Amino acid sequence: MEWYFPKSLEELAELLKEEGVFIHAGGTAIKEERIKSAKRVIDISSLPLNYVKKDGDIWRIGATATLSRVMDSLESDHLLVKALKCTATTPLRNRITVGGSVFLSPLWSNFMGPLLALDAKLNVVGKLNGTYSYEEFLSNKAKFQGCAVTEVNFQAGGSTCFFFDRFARTANDYSALTVTLGFSMKGDVVDEAKIVVTGCKKVYERLNAVEAGFKGKSLKAIDPDRLFDDVKLEFADKPAGSGPYLAEVARVLLMRGFDALASAR
Ligand SMILES: Cc1cc2nc3c(=O)[nH]c(=O)nc-3n(C[C@H](O)[C@H](O)[C@H](O)COP(=O)(O)OP(=O)(O)OC[C@H]3O[C@@H](n4cnc5c(N)ncnc54)[C@H](O)[C@@H]3O)c2cc1C
Repeated sequence: MEWYFPKSLEELAELLKEEGVFIHAGGTAIKEERIKSAKRVIDISSLPLNYVKKDGDIWRIGATATLSRVMDSLESDHLLVKALKCTATTPLRNRITVGGSVFLSPLWSNFMGPLLALDAKLNVVGKLNGTYSYEEFLSNKAKFQGCAVTEVNFQAGGSTCFFFDRFARTANDYSALTVTLGFSMKGDVVDEAKIVVTGCKKVYERLNAVEAGFKGKSLKAIDPDRLFDDVKLEFADKPAGSGPYLAEVARVLLMRGFDALASAR
């Protein structure tokens, strides 16, 4: 087995052309057998991608920035900081990278809902080169095999107020589900709503119909008890609870999110 430590994106792109190469970032999701069976492993820690920076009104996060670094760099009340605070443990957050989390996008991801709600984009190199929406990446992961994620970026600031919560058995457990809600207001009425549930059978669900129902309405005029009645979320049974139980938990967290955002107005 050979290890490579590319120092530039050009070098990385060349290495990605080779057969059977495998990227190692934080290494927290890579099983020992996977590394042992690999012929070529690309460790990306020497690339100049360990950054979190504000570029005008865009936040740019390099693929090798760790979750801890993101938490230290964004505003303390930023949606991603809320989500990362309850991800794994401090020693793990010091290793887990943004690129690894996004490329893996596991069912228990705390990143997925917030990045979808933020309309995040990914820069990739390799088989494909360019900028793609995270939603496109999730909807066709196979297309991105042979690519490396080099950056995650999204709009900074703005007037959207966000809520994030997750359900897990213990503080350090993998998330069974997450909910993310965001409202941007125009005066007293909702201009745009973002509602994403993850961890479900479809991996994630964007509640487009509910989002559309909010538009142009005052939060006070919305009956929260009926709000999510028509939403049919399906979950598989998990260690944290049966599928129907998790669907009910998701509904409760959505209601809590709505109440929190409405009362913050
Ligand atoms: C005990 C524990 C609990 C956890 N709980 C949660 C949780 O609740 N929520 C949550 O969101 N996460 C959680 N995580 C983190 C998550 O499961 C993964 O371990 C983590 O996201 C992987 O990131 P990494 O940088 O270590 O990637 P690696 O393990 O290095 O790589 C993961 C995969 O992505 C590929 N890869 C890595 N970087 C790139 C790149 N830049 N471009 C293309 N491909 C790449 C690798 O080849 C590999 O296939 C937990 C982890 C542990 C160990």
